[in-house]
Amino acid sequence: MTNRFRVFATCDIGDALNILRERGYELEVYSKPEAPPKNLIIEKVKSGVDGLITTLRDKVDAEIFAAGKGTLRVVAQLAVGFDNINRADANAHRVPFTNTADVLTEATAEFAFFALGDLARKLWTAERMLREKRWGYWHPFLPFLGDEVTGKTIAIIGTGRIGLAMIKKCEGFDMNILCYDPAYENHEYVRVIQELKDLRYARKICAEKTWIRYTSLEEALSQADYVSVHVPLLREGESTTPTYHLFNEKTLRMMKPTAMLVNTSRGPVIDETALAKALRERWIAGAALDVYEKEPLADDSPLRDPQIEDRCRLYPHFASAARITRLSRDPNKGMAGRCVQGLIDVLEGNYGGDIQKMPYVVNKEAFSD
Ligand code: NAD
Repeated sequence: MTNRFRVFATCDIGDALNILRERGYELEVYSKPEAPPKNLIIEKVKSGVDGLITTLRDKVDAEIFAAGKGTLRVVAQLAVGFDNINRADANAHRVPFTNTADVLTEATAEFAFFALGDLARKLWTAERMLREKRWGYWHPFLPFLGDEVTGKTIAIIGTGRIGLAMIKKCEGFDMNILCYDPAYENHEYVRVIQELKDLRYARKICAEKTWIRYTSLEEALSQADYVSVHVPLLREGESTTPTYHLFNEKTLRMMKPTAMLVNTSRGPVIDETALAKALRERWIAGAALDVYEKEPLADDSPLRDPQIEDRCRLYPHFASAARITRLSRDPNKGMAGRCVQGLIDVLEGNYGGDIQKMPYVVNKEAFSD
């Protein structure tokens, strides 16, 4: 089958792009590792491409959709989050956009759990001490101790796909779990996790009874030893429960001074100035961050302050960065495969051309008539 669809990819997403080449698509790939400048994307869209492959680094808004008026038929995003795409602008131009939900859920959740482990047990600090040849003795509590994760209480903020997967990881570590989500409560999932907990206790796989339940944000933050954030970035006006700066001076002060915060969602969910202050002044005991208000993280960010480096782990937006998750051509396994399939569905009119039925299209509401 030969198609002469024209596609511009703002980033090389690997072997999955060969699926398009094999189908006869005319594909141009921006080959530098950094994001292309916006005016280059506009130029490519203006030249009449049918499809655009984007990443979270590209701001896709009215300017881009206007440049593609009459020709641009789909934007396929390599990510589950799509806060870089202006949904209202896409809808106004009736351009469907797709994302890569589900295939990165377990990878992101396990990364959040490992980040929690790194932070709580001071893995980075301990290895650095050894490498810098400062490991002079074995001692019961010097030069420092970490904190256990097993048996502690974690708050899961946002119980969508990744939040629920994180709950599953935490269950394996016999943690008590407080859930908070103002828009979606999955009581059936919580009931099954409680059943697992009860079975593990009854069969003597764990020594203490543990529990899981939904609660308010205030209770979750004030009672948890660890807090893990799994919400989308929603700014004022985009949702009745916006998440922009959900963690600010007020909410950070609700946490226990011994508590630690993990964020693998989106940077602007946390007010970084407030977080740096909370760490410096020890309102909370630590934070592990994978995402930032501005990426890459600025050289002069207060989060890089050496005063707080023992309790602030920083990763380069890396939570979904596992080989199969990122690159598999299989749309049921990899983000790249799912991204390419989402693009093909729209351009080749799969599902009888009914956008409402296409599983990876996000803004289905624009195609209800
Ligand atoms: P999802 O839509 O399945 O779940 C998000 C949940 O957050 C929903 O249940 C929603 O009701 C809830 N929510 C919305 N507003 C909230 C609020 N104010 N307070 C608490 N909960 C709220 O999304 P997902 O697949 O679980 O992904 C979550 C986010 O994780 C993505 O939007 C993306 O930004 C981020 N993410 C980051 C990486 C990474 O590499 N660091 C990887 C994957 C996803």
